[in-house]
Amino acid sequence: MKAEIIAVGTELLLGQILNTNAQYLAQSCADLGVSVYFQTVVGDNMSRLTEALQTAKGRADLIICTGGLGPTQDDLTKDALAAFLGRQIIMHQPSMDAIEAMFSTRGIHMVESNRRQALMLDNSDPLTNDAGLAVGIALTQDQTHYVLLPGPPKEMKPMFERYAAPWISSKMNHVHPLFSRMLKFAGIGESSLEHELLDLIKAQTDPSIAPYAKEGEVAIRLTTRAGSEAEAAVKLDPMEREIRSRLGQYVYAAEDVTLEQEIVHILSSRKQLLAAAESCTGGLFSNMLTSVPGSSAVYRGGIICYSNILKHRLLNVPMDVLEGPGAPGAISAEAAKILAEQMLAQAGSDYAVAITGVAGPDSSEGKPVGLVYVGIASTQGETVVEQLQLTGNRDSIKWRAAKSALYKLWKLL
Ligand code: AMP
Ligand code: MG
Repeated sequence: MKAEIIAVGTELLLGQILNTNAQYLAQSCADLGVSVYFQTVVGDNMSRLTEALQTAKGRADLIICTGGLGPTQDDLTKDALAAFLGRQIIMHQPSMDAIEAMFSTRGIHMVESNRRQALMLDNSDPLTNDAGLAVGIALTQDQTHYVLLPGPPKEMKPMFERYAAPWISSKMNHVHPLFSRMLKFAGIGESSLEHELLDLIKAQTDPSIAPYAKEGEVAIRLTTRAGSEAEAAVKLDPMEREIRSRLGQYVYAAEDVTLEQEIVHILSSRKQLLAAAESCTGGLFSNMLTSVPGSSAVYRGGIICYSNILKHRLLNVPMDVLEGPGAPGAISAEAAKILAEQMLAQAGSDYAVAITGVAGPDSSEGKPVGLVYVGIASTQGETVVEQLQLTGNRDSIKWRAAKSALYKLWKLL
């Protein structure tokens, strides 16, 4: 099934908001096995919206519109589709009842325009809005499927997931559902990963191989259609084995979890504790870890020793290591080692991570932007220190430094 996503809203064309709905819908369609061939953005304008529908109808089996279902005069999507398909606009009574009930419970006066949110087209299926007022619509005409969703992401997503996705699936005459497997990588960039797997990616048929990249992390999704989990495994297993044989050292999970989730999982299963001394990352490493539910069982906490004074006072790094002629400096393997060991001792944890480096934009201690030292001390063995040369702007260097520290820790664990 070929799909086109039409995002409706002048604010999108003006660049006032980012079209995040298109990203969500494109990913969700891929998950359903629907191929999105085009994405369109059109303003709140009847004739251009009609033109967009006309064009989409010529090249898609499924047209998903988001936006323009609200109560105001510029919300035109339903009117445009009704006129385009020559259908009547009718009231969806259950939605109208829900809207009236909402206004009466809250004791607010309902203006006439709110009724517009309960309108739908004749012979169409309503898509319930669990998070707002505007009802969505799904219908089929002349072998083309149309799905109308609201603009606000917090309404659009649950409507898509709960009602539109099953509706779309029911229109696809696939014998088999999709099964997919996510391999998560750390410590390797997207381009190196692709380079290593290029022959597989180029020759892919079944399962399909899709690389995804986020800052500091890459993932590969393997997808196949099969009659059962076991049947899917017959196709997915050999491909996973082949990928692991080439890049196994970078694979930290075979499901969609973050590196910090995986670390919290490992530490809690071993009942071990972690602490961190952060300089250039300014708490980002701790923030990543504490974003994981359950991290309190393994993360003791940390010290953001951004200045030399605090590195010295709180973590006992000798001043003559930090400053002065011939001193290694705060950005050095020596400092990273002491910070990690002192943090370990003070926290009484099993592991302690120290991160010190130059986030930029200016160099520091005469050292280049992106130079970062990650030290990891543990009660189980020698302290390890790694020197990294990261690239990017200040934000990406901080982000990559924190992610690299997570990666080093994961490898050590
Ligand atoms: P609407 O349904 O057109 O009244 O949209 C209401 C609000 O939803 C807009 O003001 C945006 O804040 C948000 N919105 C609409 N379309 C999108 C989109 N494509 N991506 C992200 N947010 C959107
Ligand atoms: Mg709008």
